[in-house]
Amino acid sequence: MENRDVIIVNDSKFETRILKDILFKLGMNPLISDEYMILRDIKHHRPFMVIVNYILEDSTGDRIIEEIKRKAPKTVCILSSSNLLLMKDFSSSPIDQIMKTPITIDKMKEILKGYLPKKNNQCIKCGKIIQDDFNICPYCGTQLKIRA
Ligand SMILES: [Zn+2]
Repeated sequence: MENRDVIIVNDSKFETRILKDILFKLGMNPLISDEYMILRDIKHHRPFMVIVNYILEDSTGDRIIEEIKRKAPKTVCILSSSNLLLMKDFSSSPIDQIMKTPITIDKMKEILKGYLPKKNNQCIKCGKIIQDDFNICPYCGTQLKIRA
């Protein structure tokens, strides 16, 4: 089974809860860590993605992400902030993407889609390979599956 662990590092309990809820609804397995435990948790869980908030008590998200990338370069690292941050201000940082919080479920879905492996479904009725986005087989009209 593919790795759907996403670790959240955010000092705000409120934002953490919202993110956790959204990730869970999108079929991910959200886990919570903090700036002190994250490297140990990365080693232990080998998550697919981490979402680290920019402002932390003793550090900043981009610094934490640099350490994560050094230890586990394949981890998708998202920098989150309630302020508008620009990628160009982090051009020397290995962060994959910036995420503005609060985030909607649709926006989160879009972000995840960019990193999750593309799935090709096969229609159970006609056997044609169908792109992930379709709910109904474009060849024979069979309902494929109910999506969140
Ligand atoms: Zn079909």
